[in-house]
Amino acid sequence: DAGASILSVRNLEAWYGESHILHGMNFDVNAGEVVTLLGRNGAGKTTTLKSIMGIIGKRTGSVRFNNQEINPAFSDRIARMGVAFCPEERGIFSSLDVRENLLLPPIVRPGGLSLDQIFDLFPNLKERLASQGTKLSGGEQQMLAIARILRTGARFLMLDEPTEGLAPVIIQQIGHTIAQLKKEGFTILLVEQNFRFASTVADRYYIVEHGKVIDGFANSELRANMDKLHTYLGV
Ligand code: ATP
Repeated sequence: DAGASILSVRNLEAWYGESHILHGMNFDVNAGEVVTLLGRNGAGKTTTLKSIMGIIGKRTGSVRFNNQEINPAFSDRIARMGVAFCPEERGIFSSLDVRENLLLPPIVRPGGLSLDQIFDLFPNLKERLASQGTKLSGGEQQMLAIARILRTGARFLMLDEPTEGLAPVIIQQIGHTIAQLKKEGFTILLVEQNFRFASTVADRYYIVEHGKVIDGFANSELRANMDKLHTYLGV
């Protein structure tokens, strides 16, 4: 139901080998929200998403999804719970065409989008169906990456810097897509460096610094928090 906590992260700590990166992350994402993690390069935002997916060396603390503890040892089970991760590097298979890339992910839950539903959201992809991954523009690759996770049936999407390196007009399209997904009831956890973009889609923000959430506020409280944003992010 709308507004209920879907993801609850408590005292999350994480390591890459000996490097201790997350030092007790605490935050929540509620059903139907777009929540954005903001923070400087290296603050630990990507690591947070990877820790939730269980694709990092070691983590402690608690990550609950729909009131169920996510066991990091079984990342395939995480996908079946309805959580999907779209990495910054997008992960498009360059030797496959758009259609093959779309047909690759398993539909792990009912509700995975059909190709026709994908094309309603991303008309560009339909035109590029037979194009090889390497022939796609950055924006097309990003859209394909998002489309692909929608195939799985996930209702909770984690998007890592979807606007990185893209032209303003494409960034705007991605903003429309996120708004559309929100309207259709998806819940989205976004990592962004582009604050201007984030402010067009986010309901709430958390500021991450040195592997911790140091502040959080709603989009409606943005004005009162501009000083903080300036201090922490330089925006
Ligand atoms: P960015 O926008 O640069 O990705 P971020 O906030 O997402 O910033 P992370 O990518 O989570 O930051 O990185 C947090 C810290 O972890 C950084 O100091 C980074 O150097 C380190 N780190 C990231 N990946 C690895 C890795 N595979 N092995 C060791 N250290 C890593």
